[in-house]
Amino acid sequence: MKPLMQNLTILGSTGSIGVSTLDVVARHPQQFQVFALTANQRVEELAAQCQQFHPQYAVMGSEAAAERLRSLVGSDVDVLWGDEGLALVAAHEEADTVMAAIVGAAGLLPTLAAVKAGKKVLLANKEALVMAGQLFMDVVSQSKATLLPIDSEHNAIFQCLPADYSGREQAGVRRLLLSASGGPFRTTPLTDLAAMTPDQACAHPNWSMGRKISVDSATMMNKGLELIEASWLFAVDASDIDIVIHPQSIIHSLVEYNDGSVLAQLGNPDMRTPIAHALAWPERIESGVSSLDLIAIASLNFEAPDEQRFPALSLARAAADSRGDAPAALNAANEVAVEAFLNNAIGFTRIAEVVDRVMQVWLLGEPRELAAVQDADKRARAMAHQVIVEQA
Ligand code: NDP
Repeated sequence: MKPLMQNLTILGSTGSIGVSTLDVVARHPQQFQVFALTANQRVEELAAQCQQFHPQYAVMGSEAAAERLRSLVGSDVDVLWGDEGLALVAAHEEADTVMAAIVGAAGLLPTLAAVKAGKKVLLANKEALVMAGQLFMDVVSQSKATLLPIDSEHNAIFQCLPADYSGREQAGVRRLLLSASGGPFRTTPLTDLAAMTPDQACAHPNWSMGRKISVDSATMMNKGLELIEASWLFAVDASDIDIVIHPQSIIHSLVEYNDGSVLAQLGNPDMRTPIAHALAWPERIESGVSSLDLIAIASLNFEAPDEQRFPALSLARAAADSRGDAPAALNAANEVAVEAFLNNAIGFTRIAEVVDRVMQVWLLGEPRELAAVQDADKRARAMAHQVIVEQA
C-alpha cells in the first residue's frame, strides 16, 4: 500500500537534529512534505532550507530576523516570528507530524502546543519533558498525541519494548539500561578537567551535535536529563534505570526483562536512524545510515560511570527522586551554567558546581500548572546567575 503523505513541521530545523531530519525527508519526497521550518537567528540557513523544501511557513526568533528572512524568501513563504509563530506552526491543523528539535527550555511551549493539538510528536527536545514531566505526560494522554522519542537511547528502549507497552510491571521489565559514551573527557586526568575549553568539550568522540548537548555530554548532565526523560516516557522509577558507559556508542540502550533476557538496539552512531524510525513508525524507511560493520568494530566495552568525574549524574538522580519542580530547576541552572561556560565566563568543572549550589537551596514545589513550571525555571535561572556572579 502506498504510504500517506505526512505534512511535517520541524521546530529547530537549522540545528543538528533539524538538518538530519531534512536529510532523511529529502530521501522520501513521496512520503514527507515540509509544512513549516523554524530557527532562532540563523536567517541564511533557514532561507536556504526554504529554497530547497518550499514550506508554507517559516518562523524566526525575532521580528528583525523575520524581516531579513522575508527579504530572502519573498512571498512564497509565510514568515512569522516568536512564541506565537512557533505555537501556530506546531499546532496547525495541516501539520500531521512535529519534530520538536529546539534546544533547551525555549522548546517547551511549542512542543506542548503540538502535544495539545494531538500531533504525532517526535521528541528530541528532552528539556521540555524534563521540565514539565507530569504535566507534559498528562497532556499527552488527554490529547491522544503520539509521542515518539528521538534521543537515540530512548528510541532504542522504545524499539526494545513490546508494541503495546503500558508500564514496566505489565510488560515484565526488570530494568532499563541507558548507555552513555562517557563523552570527550571519559579518560582525561581529573586534575585537568577544570582547564578544559568549550571547543574541547564540544569535540564529542562519536556524535556530531549542537554545542549545548555536546557540553551536557561532556559533564554527563545529558545522561542525567535522559534518566529523567526515560522515567517519564516509560513510566519507570529512576531507581529502575541504570546507566552504563559504552564508549563505542554502538549499543544505544537496553531493556532487561524479568526472565533475564536483555534486548538491545544497535546501529552506527548517526541520529538519522532514530529520526527515520520515528518519522516512518510503525513502518521502516531508508535513512542514509551505513550498515553496521561488527567485524570492523571488533569489540564492545562497558564500564560503570565514575560519579566523582561526573557529579552531574548524582545531581540529576537526586532531582529525579525529588520530582516536583526539582528537574525544572536542575535543567534551568544547567542551561545557565553551560551558556556561561560556552561564553568562557566559568570553567568546565564549575558547571556542576553551579547546578549543585542551586539545588542545595532549592525549595521543592509541585508544579501542577504550566505557570508554576515557568516560575521554577525563572527562579532557578536567577539563582544560577547569582551563584556565577558571587563566585566570579
Ligand atoms: P542545535 O543547537 O544544533 O539546534 C538548535 C535549534 O533550535 C536551532 O534550529 C536553533 O536556531 C533553534 N533555537 C535555539 N534557541 C532557540 C530559541 N530560543 N527559540 C527558538 N529556536 C531556538 O541543537 P541540537 O539539534 O543539537 O539539539 C536540539 C535538541 O535535540 C536538544 O534538546 C538536544 O538535547 C536534543 N538532542 C540532540 C541530539 C543531537 O545529536 N544533536 C541527540 C539527541 C537529542 P538557530 O540555528 O537560529 O540558532
